[in-house]
Amino acid sequence: MAYKVIDIYRDLPRTNCGDCGRGSCFAFASAVYLEAFPLENCPHLDPDRHRTMEEQLAQGREEGEGRKPASSEQALQALRATVAGADLATQAERCGGTLTADGRGVALRFLDSGYLASRDDVAADAGDEPTIWVKIFLLIYLTRASGRSPAGEWVAYRELPNTVSKSTSFEACAARIAVQFEGDPAGLAKAAASLGGEPHRFGSADGCFRFQVLPRVPLLLLFWDREEEFPARVSLLLDRQVLDYLDQEAIVFLAEAFASRLLGKDLNGVAA
Ligand code: SF4
Repeated sequence: MAYKVIDIYRDLPRTNCGDCGRGSCFAFASAVYLEAFPLENCPHLDPDRHRTMEEQLAQGREEGEGRKPASSEQALQALRATVAGADLATQAERCGGTLTADGRGVALRFLDSGYLASRDDVAADAGDEPTIWVKIFLLIYLTRASGRSPAGEWVAYRELPNTVSKSTSFEACAARIAVQFEGDPAGLAKAAASLGGEPHRFGSADGCFRFQVLPRVPLLLLFWDREEEFPARVSLLLDRQVLDYLDQEAIVFLAEAFASRLLGKDLNGVAA
């Protein structure tokens, strides 16, 4: 049976709280149906209701209803098409990259590696071919970059708009770092230095490092070591202007990639 906007709307809490970032439950239902906006963005659906709705959406899509979610391959193709139509000289300047001599690509640094993003593909300066997730991430950065300067104000991920459904994933990255370096601030300082982190001062933190994770995207790591019964804690802060460069999902990918590299792992296992 067809599962349309009005049916989705009826299955929502209908409180119009706006936590999904769409302003009202009806706007959210329309986005789910027309844009394949993920149901996870409504944090007020209980698991049973969520599962039932997903089943009905999947069945409806099989019958031609609504829009299917884009696969990662489709997302990459769409981004390549955007790059093909972009003014690469302007975007290189906006994102802090370097336009290649032939004007067909932009050299970028992400964490501790160099990449070349071009109209055709994204290649690493050294080592393995980047995963599809790294490619998607770098093309989002390249095409979204506004060129605006950082606001100079550090914020937590959850303070950015429309991050409710993803903030647990983001904070899990900080927790991984805290567990790894609990009782080992010297180890954290060494790992931070290897990723280009510079010591910084911020509030009451026992350790603080500033990283230039992308040419126009800084990240601040705050570390409080364990104390009596309290375990170690890490916060990852972003410049308030970060959405000028990355969307909410890309920022979670950034946090996962950052935590992996800080813990000495490569990016092959990091997926959006
Ligand atoms: S978060 Fe859920 S309940 Fe709140 S407006 Fe969005 S769809 Fe409605």
